[in-house]
Amino acid sequence: MTDRPNSRPDTLIRRTGFPDSVSRAVVTPLQPSVVYASSSPDQLDAQYEGSLKGYTYAREGHPNADVLARKIDMLEGGEGGVITGSGMAAVTAVLLGLLKKGDHVVGGDQLYGRSLRMLTRDLPRFGIPTSLADPTDAETMADAITPDTKLILVELVSNPTLRVADMDGIAALARQHGVLLVVDNTFTTPIGYRPFDHGADVVIHSVTKLLAGHSDVTLGYVSARDAGHRTAICDFIATAGMTPSPYDCWMAERGLYTFPLRFDRAEANARALADHLAGLPGVESVLYPGRADHPDHARAQALLGGRDGNMLSFTISGGRAEANRMIEAVPQLAFAPTLGDVGTTVSHPASSSHRGMSPEERAARGMGEGFFRVSVGIEDIALLKADFRQALAAV
Ligand SMILES: *Cc1c(COP(=O)(O)O)cnc(C)c1O
Repeated sequence: MTDRPNSRPDTLIRRTGFPDSVSRAVVTPLQPSVVYASSSPDQLDAQYEGSLKGYTYAREGHPNADVLARKIDMLEGGEGGVITGSGMAAVTAVLLGLLKKGDHVVGGDQLYGRSLRMLTRDLPRFGIPTSLADPTDAETMADAITPDTKLILVELVSNPTLRVADMDGIAALARQHGVLLVVDNTFTTPIGYRPFDHGADVVIHSVTKLLAGHSDVTLGYVSARDAGHRTAICDFIATAGMTPSPYDCWMAERGLYTFPLRFDRAEANARALADHLAGLPGVESVLYPGRADHPDHARAQALLGGRDGNMLSFTISGGRAEANRMIEAVPQLAFAPTLGDVGTTVSHPASSSHRGMSPEERAARGMGEGFFRVSVGIEDIALLKADFRQALAAV
């Protein structure tokens, strides 16, 4: 036994890779390796210098992230995009990778909750003052710009009130003042809007949402038009350790293949459900950018070209008691503060994303206790209509 080298436990560890095969795998291999072995110090030197392409250490980049990034680049018309461990890591990498003390930032006043928090609580701690302004009105954005303003961060469709930003006005403003325009395109997705085609300098995604689409990975994407900005952002991601797990990237790649199909179906469902809700007793109002009664309908048509997306909001008559009854009546609809899943999810901003606001502040923004946001999924629309009829009947 002991003189048979193959059976010695210490030879196990010599990793031999996959068996040779003249045929190749159809599916992208999952590569969890943290480290990559180079063949000589000269080669490693060349890799670090960039004259040879090769991975070194996964925090600096790995193939599963790159495969996913190239596919999202394709959708966005971007180049050299990077995957991060979450959408918020992408937002943070842009802000901390590109700004320095004394720079000023203007943000939309209805950004994603954590982005708002980053702007109002965190950037000021690092000596980066910020102002918030209403992105549906480029004039108020203009008023917020100071001689130190370096960056504007906006989302095209606001969460959860689904207002549509004056993107053309804001892009003109950014150009005129030489300010970087950063667009978080999570809600609209590249099917609805491609920010790079309309003057954006940086595009961000929470890949967690519609692009991956199955609520089983947390990832972000960021791409910058300018190569210098890309390098600064990538370096910050590697330094701060915002790199994603290869497995999550592999899962998101798998999800991304059906993104256009899922988006078509979810959008058609959202359009039909919005009209259905508007006709149900107990529903006071419905917000969907594709409906003629939406306050920014004309702008939505101009910017989104009919790709109004899968998100809608509505208000029921009543307060918290009615809200509780409605949600309890439909346990089959996930009551969860996320969006973009294949299944429909319903959220209640007053008790979740906007719980930090006073009731008066919420009321001023049109999101009282009766206000709900729906991320419409790809279910059979007849089932969805029945679910919401059942929900409203309980109110
Ligand atoms: C969810 C979301 C984020 C944050 O993404 P995570 O992947 O959850 O970190 C940022 N922006 C928007 C618009 C989002 O919906």
